[in-house]
Amino acid sequence: MVIALGAGLAGLTAAHHLQRKGRDALVFERADEPGGLCRSMRADGFTFDRTGHVLHLRDTSLRAWLDEILPADTWLEVDRSSAVWSHETLTPYPFQANTAGLPVDVRLECLLGFIDTLRDDHPALGAIPDATPLAGGPSFLNVRPPVADDEPNFHDWILSTFGEGFAKHFFRPYNEKQWQRDLREITGDWVSWSIPRPELTDVLRGAITANDKAFGYNPHFLYPREGGIDRLPNAIAATLADDTIRTGCEVVALEAATRRVTVRDASGVENVHDAPAILSSLPLARLAAMTTDLPAPLREAATSLSAVSVRCIDLGVRGEAPFGDTQWVYVPERDAPFHRVGFPKALCPAMAPDGCYSVAAEIAFRADDDPGVDRHLAVTREHLAKMGAVPTDADVVTSHVDTIADAYVVFDKARRAALAPLLSFYVKHGVIPMGRYGTWDYLSMQDSLAHGRDAAEWSAAR
Ligand SMILES: Cc1cc2nc3c(=O)[nH]c(=O)nc-3n(C[C@H](O)[C@H](O)[C@H](O)COP(=O)(O)OP(=O)(O)OC[C@H]3O[C@@H](n4cnc5c(N)ncnc54)[C@H](O)[C@@H]3O)c2cc1C
Repeated sequence: MVIALGAGLAGLTAAHHLQRKGRDALVFERADEPGGLCRSMRADGFTFDRTGHVLHLRDTSLRAWLDEILPADTWLEVDRSSAVWSHETLTPYPFQANTAGLPVDVRLECLLGFIDTLRDDHPALGAIPDATPLAGGPSFLNVRPPVADDEPNFHDWILSTFGEGFAKHFFRPYNEKQWQRDLREITGDWVSWSIPRPELTDVLRGAITANDKAFGYNPHFLYPREGGIDRLPNAIAATLADDTIRTGCEVVALEAATRRVTVRDASGVENVHDAPAILSSLPLARLAAMTTDLPAPLREAATSLSAVSVRCIDLGVRGEAPFGDTQWVYVPERDAPFHRVGFPKALCPAMAPDGCYSVAAEIAFRADDDPGVDRHLAVTREHLAKMGAVPTDADVVTSHVDTIADAYVVFDKARRAALAPLLSFYVKHGVIPMGRYGTWDYLSMQDSLAHGRDAAEWSAAR
């Protein structure tokens, strides 16, 4: 018997692959239903995900597996149509290749700054060390050494890659809203890989006219035709043997050396379970806090792991969607509370009833500085009206607010210092951290599916 902690994509996929190999698996989940971040909410004919959740599947073996567990016509193949709201203008994404509609001064600052980064005497940045596999663990557990003094931080990486103009008009304000801190605190190994650096020709063309070239890692993706990303976790859950998932069961303590977990059920009764292997998708910082035999220095290191919270403000509105087929908009403007706003019906028509559209605004905030739901709702309505996305007098049919406590793991020096020793401690005892928060990383759905599959392979082989 292997125990998986958490029934998000990682935990469900791990249980699926274990059972496929003839092993017993049990999954404990605190919520009332499986799915984790991939749950969907339905009200008044609208469907809302926990902000936009679109599936990028580059791993062909995962695609083949999904084709086994879901009918072939499940997925819409969608081309990205995203934009940036800047200087009261809607311009296509990415900003750095699409400034044509912006004021001339802004275009000029962006162009001159970018050209400056191409000069031979432009200072070179220090290297970001490669991640290497963690000894003794599954291959997805990769770590980097503690941050060296000459390693670029995210702020300097932006400046060196895109120049002052793009930094001022997009990257700094957008990322400061998402990270809720000075970007010098964010390490350069954050997803710099996913931010497209265009050629000079693309920057020039984009400053003069429309750029129709596809940039970035996500120009095409999948989304369930019937609406709601929960199709995916529900399909995996449906493959599991009866009684595999224990919902309403919160893991409250772990003794790593004996792989013994204490689980509190909905009626408050606590039971202890042990297993030869435990696969944990619980947030690493929380797992550390509940691990009774974690050495004091590691416990202390784990308290320095931090995350940004996200509040999703979902509105169902009667009328025509304001921005045509635009699926989501990045909002760098400092006075807007949200950094991104989605229009789910543009992803999939089934997300809103006929004659209606929906809006999902994403606000990042620090848990110790939460202005509260009412304030977030009020300023979101105000700025959606300012953008023309939801007029002040709009007929709002439904509204829903969802708060994700640990949405974006903060990539900082403390994380880099703590991660390798913490993961090593758990792996040594046969407790395998997996998934986005289990490994305290920035992972997509595809990554979490792969972690679940590989964690199952790893434990089944032992
Ligand atoms: C705002 C946002 C937008 C995103 N958009 C996309 C996107 O468009 N495309 C994409 O590919 N990815 C996206 N992601 C990432 C994607 O959601 C995750 O990679 C994936 O869903 C994580 O799955 P998981 O199983 O690793 O973690 P989770 O889904 O977090 O699952 C962990 C589970 O553990 C449970 N749990 C926690 N504590 C306990 C406890 N003490 N006891 C028992 N159970 C517990 C939780 O309830 C949860 O069900 C987004 C993430 C965020 C935050």
